[in-house]
Amino acid sequence: MKEMAFASIQEIKNLLNTKQVSSTEVVSYFIDRLKKHDDLGASLEVFDARSITRHNTTSTGILFGIPGLLKDNIAQQGRQLTCASRSLEGYTATYDATVTERLQQAGAPILGRANMDEFAMGSSNETSAFRKVKNPWDTSRVPGGSSGGSVAAVAAGLVPWSLGSETGGSVRLPASFCGVVGLKPTYGLVSRYGLVAYASSLDQIGPVTRTVADNALVLSAMAGHDLHDSSSLNVPRVDYTALLTGKIPAGLRIGIVSNAIHAKGMDPEISNALEQAINVFRKLGATVHDISLPALEYGAATYFIISRAEAASNLARFDGVRYGLRDKTAQTLADMYRSTRHDGFGAEVRARILVGNYVLSAGYARNYYANAQKAQRLILKEFNDAFKQVDVLLMPTHSMPAFKLGAFDLDKLQMDLQDYFTCGMNLAGIPALALPCGMTQTNLPIGMQLVGPRLSEQFLYQIAHAYEQETPWHTMRPAGF
Ligand code: GLN
Repeated sequence: MKEMAFASIQEIKNLLNTKQVSSTEVVSYFIDRLKKHDDLGASLEVFDARSITRHNTTSTGILFGIPGLLKDNIAQQGRQLTCASRSLEGYTATYDATVTERLQQAGAPILGRANMDEFAMGSSNETSAFRKVKNPWDTSRVPGGSSGGSVAAVAAGLVPWSLGSETGGSVRLPASFCGVVGLKPTYGLVSRYGLVAYASSLDQIGPVTRTVADNALVLSAMAGHDLHDSSSLNVPRVDYTALLTGKIPAGLRIGIVSNAIHAKGMDPEISNALEQAINVFRKLGATVHDISLPALEYGAATYFIISRAEAASNLARFDGVRYGLRDKTAQTLADMYRSTRHDGFGAEVRARILVGNYVLSAGYARNYYANAQKAQRLILKEFNDAFKQVDVLLMPTHSMPAFKLGAFDLDKLQMDLQDYFTCGMNLAGIPALALPCGMTQTNLPIGMQLVGPRLSEQFLYQIAHAYEQETPWHTMRPAGF
């Protein structure tokens, strides 16, 4: 069998088209890899090869025969949907998410369920109720979260693509920690029908791949208007690979977010990697401009309040009556609610529900929730003003590389600050693409993000692809896989 573990989607398509492999061989090849590297913790379930179906069995689909994984908060009919929570253990999805349906229509076989932080709440994948995920580059470190399983699987060559979800950075942070490409799309570009809600005004599903072109292809298969999701934008389906020429648009103006790149506490190896990335863009013909986004400083605090408030409302539905776990020994209805929710949710989820109800409660909502909404508008305004001066912003995804498992067990604030550079874009609803831009001396990936105005995905892919062609980072592989 040809070595396919780290092949690009286009390379696997070529093998399929020239009949060097069959689509069933590709499926079993990646199932074997997922099983062989099960101790990475990336998946919660790998399906039996014979049970895998595709809606499109003609080879016309743009992802025909290209297997992937879905994060365990995205519904696939007849498959478990647990959000890595005891509260949904044994729960089976009754319908397909729109993204699931569209990917299958594009011919993609879906191989299993990717591990995640419980209900997508976390930055390290350590809050999964079932098992932790390890970073393929150094298994004593976290892959980042909350889409840690989706990302680790792609980084270790266990699947060519996966889907994660973003509320405050859950695709981009792990993508940077593991050296892969991850997109947070414009709010409303990708349907959330069938995505278990965390904070509905922020949530988006995003693709994870090893190259920019692969990412653009997966987005092309799933983005675009969906009548099932009332927050879905009325935009046509687009081919996001159309501008991948290796060139950047003439006269491109890149804004360097100076207060991020030179922020206090930035690891100098990361600042250096970003400086070098800026030089690559200069060589490609871009002009470089300093931009300051002072409101970024309020991002994490604002996100903290808005995400908890919405989570408290969204998770009220897991009451022991409608879904999953139920305490059958309770004597009264109130006791049943209380003990089911206590036993079903992990400590992180319970803490967030408590905070969310607090910031929304009478007497406090004005101080917390209403102020957070004001700060959110300020952040959006700053981004909009920046895009009057430049076409795209370049900034770090994170101030440091992947940290050790357990590093922040006793420091919740540090864990919450992991979203410092990422959650602003969720609050503003704009797209951001994370891609690898370096390696530390200890061989850990470094990531950066390119941020654009609403619906600029095609353009972000164009310039990211041009950058990628000039640099070696996407070709690097973790040892042992
Ligand atoms: N780390 C953030 C949180 O814990 C982001 C999670 C996400 O984007 N789903 O809420």
